[in-house]
Amino acid sequence: MIRILKSLIDIFFPPKCVICSKLNENFLCDDCIRNISVTGNYVCQFCGKPTIRSVNKCLECKDEKLYFTKARSFGIYEGVLKDVIAEYKYKNVRALTKLLTQLLYITLQKYYRDISFDSIEYIPMTKRSKSFRGFNQSELLAKELGKITELSVNGFLIKTKNTKKQMSLSLSERRKNLIGVFDFVGSKENCRGDILLIDDVYTTGYTVSECSKVLLNNGANDIYVLTLARSLLIQ
Ligand SMILES: [Zn+2]
Ligand SMILES: [Zn+2]
Repeated sequence: MIRILKSLIDIFFPPKCVICSKLNENFLCDDCIRNISVTGNYVCQFCGKPTIRSVNKCLECKDEKLYFTKARSFGIYEGVLKDVIAEYKYKNVRALTKLLTQLLYITLQKYYRDISFDSIEYIPMTKRSKSFRGFNQSELLAKELGKITELSVNGFLIKTKNTKKQMSLSLSERRKNLIGVFDFVGSKENCRGDILLIDDVYTTGYTVSECSKVLLNNGANDIYVLTLARSLLIQ
C-alpha cells in the first residue's frame, strides 16, 4: 500500500534536485554535488578547517579551549552545501537524509578510518525547538549513519534551555550562551570509549565542545566530531 502510494506521489510530484530542479531520486543531482567545495588533504589537524598546508592548530582554534579530540567536515559551508542544508532544515526535505548521510560516511572514511568507535551521539535540540521543526536534523543523520556503520546511536544528550541564535552574538557571547545548556540522560556504563559526535554545521566549535565536555564528564574517553559543513570564521 505504502509502495503504491509512493509511486503515485512520484508520478504527480517526481523527486527533483532541491538546487537545480532537475529530476533526481536523491533530491540532489550529481552536477550539484560536484559544485560543493569539499575539504581537501590539508586541514587543521585539530578543528578540520581547510588550510594551505597541514597544521596542528589553526588561527581559529589555537587560543580556544575545546573539549573534543578532533573535528572534520565534508565540505565548506557555502554555495550548494549551504543551500542544501537550509532546504533540509527549514523546508523539511527529510528525504535528503540518506544522501547527506552518505556525505558524512565519505568523510568518516576519509579522516577517521583508523578509529574504532564505540557509539554515535548527536547534538540535541530542546523539546520546544524539535516540536517546532518537527525533527532534529543531527539526530536523523546520526541514526542513518548508525545503520550504515552498525554503531549504536545513544542519544544521551539533551538540551535543557532555549538559547539565542548563535549567529546574532559576538564570539565571547556565543560561548557563554551555551554553558550549562546540555545535560546527560544516559547510562554512564554505555558512555565510554571513542564517541563520534554528529552535527550539521561547525562554526565556532562551541556547541560540539560543550556537548563533548558533558560526554567526557560521564565516562567517554575521546570525542570525534563529524559535520556536513565547515563555516569559515577567518578566511
Ligand atoms: Zn542539481
Ligand atoms: Zn584549527
